[in-house]
Amino acid sequence: MLDFNVSGLIPKNMEKRGELVFSENLKEIEDIFNHRKIPENGLSNEKIRLFLRFLSMMDTDKDPKSIRIGEREARIVSSVHDELSYGFCHGVGRSGNLIDPQPKAPGASIMYSLTNKILESFLKTLGIDVYGISTPVSTGMSISLCLCAARKKYASNVVIYPYAAHKSPIKAVSFAGMKMRLVETVLDGDKVYVPVEEIESAVKKEIELGNNPCILSTLTFFPPRNSDDILEISKICEIYDIPHIVNGAYALQNNFYIEKLKKAFKYRIDAVVSSSDKNLLTPIGGGIIFSKNQDFLKEISHCYPGRASATPIVSTLVSLLSIGSKNYIELMKNQKSSKKLLDDLLYDLSKKTGNKLLDSESPIASCISVNSNPVEIAAKLYNLRVTGPRGVTKTDKFGNCYTGNYIYDYIVMNAAIGVKTEDVVNAVDKLEKIIL
Ligand SMILES: *Cc1c(COP(=O)(O)O)cnc(C)c1O
Repeated sequence: MLDFNVSGLIPKNMEKRGELVFSENLKEIEDIFNHRKIPENGLSNEKIRLFLRFLSMMDTDKDPKSIRIGEREARIVSSVHDELSYGFCHGVGRSGNLIDPQPKAPGASIMYSLTNKILESFLKTLGIDVYGISTPVSTGMSISLCLCAARKKYASNVVIYPYAAHKSPIKAVSFAGMKMRLVETVLDGDKVYVPVEEIESAVKKEIELGNNPCILSTLTFFPPRNSDDILEISKICEIYDIPHIVNGAYALQNNFYIEKLKKAFKYRIDAVVSSSDKNLLTPIGGGIIFSKNQDFLKEISHCYPGRASATPIVSTLVSLLSIGSKNYIELMKNQKSSKKLLDDLLYDLSKKTGNKLLDSESPIASCISVNSNPVEIAAKLYNLRVTGPRGVTKTDKFGNCYTGNYIYDYIVMNAAIGVKTEDVVNAVDKLEKIIL
C-alpha cells in the first residue's frame, strides 16, 4: 500500500540504504498484519502508534473527499477525542452485531478483527486453544452478554450461582433479566467452597420446576472462597445439557487457573469471561470472552445492542502488542514470586501478632486473621495510602457465605500481575504498624 518515490533525490547507494532502514522499521508492523499473532517481543510505543494510525486512516471519516450526510458521521468537536479513540471515531460493530464489519470504518473493523486474532494467539501461548473476542465492556457486563446469549440460544431462564460475594456477577444476572438460584457455601477448615453435589441438585430442582437453568461458576475469587470446581461443573453441564459460563475475571495471569480451564474445556463450557485490565494491564473498561464454541461467541456478539466505543478494544490491542508473549510469561513468573513473598511476610506477621495466615488455595491473594475490626483496619490502610486490601468481618453476609458465619475476621491482600515487590513489602509493613 505504501509507495514512496524517493528516486533521484539522493545518490542511489544512499537511497538504497534509506529504504533498507525504512523497511526494517516497518517490518515489525508488517509482521503483525501478516502473522496476526502476539509478537514475542513487545513493540515500541512509537510503532504501536504508527500501526494504529495506519489503520484508523482507512476509516471513511478520514476520507478528505467523503460527503457525509448521515446522523452519525464520527464528527468530533475536539482533537482530544481523536487522541482518546486513537482515530477510531466510528467505533466498532454494527447495530445488530458487535464483531460485524462496519462499512463506515474499514480500519476499525480490521483493527477489531486483528485484535481478536492476536488475542486468540495470546491465549494459545498460555495453552488455551479457543476462539476469543475482546469486548468493549468490563467483566460484569461481559457476563451479562454471555447470559443473554444463553437465553437466546438455549432459552435459559434461571442462573444457578454457586455463591461468591461479588456484586458484579450478581448484578450481571439481574441485568440480563434472569432469575438466580444461589447455592450456598460450606466450610472446609479455613476454606470456603460450594459442593458440586449441591450444584447438581440445584440443577435438578430447576429442571423439575420446568425451568431451563444455566450455571455461572466462579474460577477466580478472593480467598478464603475457593475456586469453583469448574471441571466437575462442566461435566454436570454436559450431562444435563445446560450452558456453563465461567467468571474467570483474573484467570489468565496464573497457571493454577489456566490448568483448571484446560481440563474443564474438555466438557461443557460455553464461555469464559476475563477482565482486560486485571490480566492485560489496560485501563478499566474492556473484557475478554473465550470459548471453543465459535457460534456461541457469535451469539454473544449479536446480543450487544448497537455500536460500541473502539477504545477498550484498542486498549486490549495496545497491551498485547506492547507486552509481547515473552514478557507476559516473565510477568507471570514475577506474580508468582510476589505471591510467595506476600505469604512469607504475612506468615511472619501472623506469628508476631498471634494471628493466622489462613489456609487458602488462591495463587493471587492471601488472608491473615485479625483481632480487631477488619473493616476499620482496611480503612486505616487506605488512609496510609495503601489501596487494595479488603477487610471482612466473620459475620458479614457479603463476606464468605450468604448466611454470614465464618471463623475469623480477616484482611485479604493481592499479589496480582504487575504488583511491585516494594508494594508487597510496604503494604505488610503498614499492616504491621496497625495491628501490632
Ligand atoms: C473484578 C471482578 C468482577 C468485576 O469485574 P468488572 O470488570 O468490574 O465488571 C467480577 N467478578 C470477579 C470474581 C472479579 O474479580
